[in-house]
Amino acid sequence: MYTKINEMIEKNLDQYMQMVQYMYDNPELGFKEYKAQQIMVEYLKNAGFEVETNIAVETDFIATYKSDKEGPVMAFMCEYDALPEVGHGCGHNLIAGIGIAAGEGLKAVIDEIGGTIKVVGTPGEENFGGKVELVKAGAFNDVDVALMVHPGTKNGLGGKSSALNPIKFEFFGKNAHGCKPQEGASALDAAVMTYMQINLIRQFAEPLTYIHGIIKDGGLAANVIPAYASLEYYFRAPTMKYAKVITDKAIKCAEGAALATGTTFKTTVYECPYEDTLVNYKLADMLKEKYEMLGLTDINPVNEDPIGSTDVGSVSYVCPTIQGGIKIAEDWVTGHSKELAAATVSEEGKQALNNASKAIAYVAYDLIVNKDLLKEVKDEFEKSK
Ligand SMILES: [Zn+2]
Repeated sequence: MYTKINEMIEKNLDQYMQMVQYMYDNPELGFKEYKAQQIMVEYLKNAGFEVETNIAVETDFIATYKSDKEGPVMAFMCEYDALPEVGHGCGHNLIAGIGIAAGEGLKAVIDEIGGTIKVVGTPGEENFGGKVELVKAGAFNDVDVALMVHPGTKNGLGGKSSALNPIKFEFFGKNAHGCKPQEGASALDAAVMTYMQINLIRQFAEPLTYIHGIIKDGGLAANVIPAYASLEYYFRAPTMKYAKVITDKAIKCAEGAALATGTTFKTTVYECPYEDTLVNYKLADMLKEKYEMLGLTDINPVNEDPIGSTDVGSVSYVCPTIQGGIKIAEDWVTGHSKELAAATVSEEGKQALNNASKAIAYVAYDLIVNKDLLKEVKDEFEKSK
């Protein structure tokens, strides 16, 4: 059966790479991925999928193929948002190609084994959390397992990611002439005091907590006591629960600063919060086995130290999820760079698409035909939630 999957993917490899190249040539920022969405939707329709768009966000899509036989629902996730300046420097165009190839590869055998394939277009991974919106819209409620592979400088089995709580602090004081400051109240002073005080939290935070913020607004003229100032922060931690504990401590800092300066303040969640990622070790084992079968070497184990955040986390709380990694460039190439973007359309990129899409299609295949495996994956998921 793997042979049929292989044949389908190999037959269409050039077409997948054409889409990857097109996205490379036409990079679009998060939630503006209209061109990418259009070519993928068109391709998937022609490949026999039923496609819906605008489920939660204009540029999302779900392409479904349901076989006549009952069976589990396997979802392959595509990303396709680019970055300012470096285009597809995070390689999401290749993720898109891998997701489509895996979906079409599995489609070659699904009528025989039963089940449903969903290729899910998840836009705006970098800042806007397309997956978070899709999860809220229930797009993953009927999904048994969600799979994807992210390109980079290592083959890997994915891992944990940090929960991220993005909080904006706004301070409100009173304008006054710089030489009559006693008539005003400085929102900037409150912001600076809060910034300093939040820095002091770090020593008392648990390991793998990351706190990073900026002064976004700090006044408009030196001779005016600023009536308005703001700070933007990311509070990251191994779990959202702990990210919120740290957020509460930071809010206490702002309370103290407002009291001391005679100002008021408010806080808002100014971007999309990201959940941490729940690892499914059984899925990781399965992906490793498939990678090895395909001849990949130097496969990193599950990454246990969460560094960075992703909207895949939200999906990982709804169904068993894996985001593997595949190498397309050497170690010295940094993430979010033009070099990594160029690697997506290289020969290595093409080979990575070939291998990664086969690997996750095989995993999905195994989960459909072997009920015990699927049960093991789901039991682990229920326990880890
Ligand atoms: Zn990425």
